[in-house]
Amino acid sequence: MVYVLIFVFVFGVVIGSFLNVVILRYGTGQSFVKGSSRCFSCGKKLSWHELVPIFSFLIQKGRCRGCGSKISWQYPVVEFLTGALFVATFLQLSTSEVDSWRVLFLWVIVSLLIIISVYDIKHFIIPNKIVWIFNGLAFAMLFCGFFYQGPSLVVLPRTVLGSFLGGLAFFSFFALLWAVSRGRWMGFGDAKLALGLGWFLGPSQTFSAFLISFWLGAVVGIGLLALSKYSLKSQIPFGPFLVAGAVISFLFDLNIFGLLYGG
Ligand SMILES: [Zn+2]
Repeated sequence: MVYVLIFVFVFGVVIGSFLNVVILRYGTGQSFVKGSSRCFSCGKKLSWHELVPIFSFLIQKGRCRGCGSKISWQYPVVEFLTGALFVATFLQLSTSEVDSWRVLFLWVIVSLLIIISVYDIKHFIIPNKIVWIFNGLAFAMLFCGFFYQGPSLVVLPRTVLGSFLGGLAFFSFFALLWAVSRGRWMGFGDAKLALGLGWFLGPSQTFSAFLISFWLGAVVGIGLLALSKYSLKSQIPFGPFLVAGAVISFLFDLNIFGLLYGG
């Protein structure tokens, strides 16, 4: 079992390294698979031993071998996070029943959510194509026969309908926040993301995810204000908080509404 988990982690780290390329090249017209990686400062082509995920960053102490300029923390962090979340989703499923389709499906979902979060942190916008791929998969899952069991993957026709309507309700809530604040509290991208999260998680987990994301957002916002790194006017992207809330709520199968009201 330990060997399986190590394999899953290493596989996740390698996928994470690919996600970094997607985040970097999305919207630039460059291919995600062609073209070699280069240093941003000196343009030095990176050799295979400079492209080993996590290790290269640690060995080179986060600097380019050619010119010594700093390499972004994004690279090792995304690689590690992808590995860790692949392991976590794998473990979460193994409590019920591991089915290779389900595992693969969840890893694709995790990968899309990581791209959305990191891209949002870097560019203050949720990448449109990626969020619609996520929403499409969540929609397909709702109606797909072979995801019939499991802790949070929906079962009954009633639940499918509930999740579908829940997603629309969550979308409307965020779209309203976006409209009322004229995009200052939320971007429209957050509303689109809420739609897919509602479909993917179902109403009770989505509700928990949103509570967690607002709490996390408040804590981080206050923290940044206290460190006076930001003023009240500065923008903090909300997408990463939504994703963090969703991941926590999914992994721990949370139902905060049920806990509060004994449901
Ligand atoms: Zn360089």
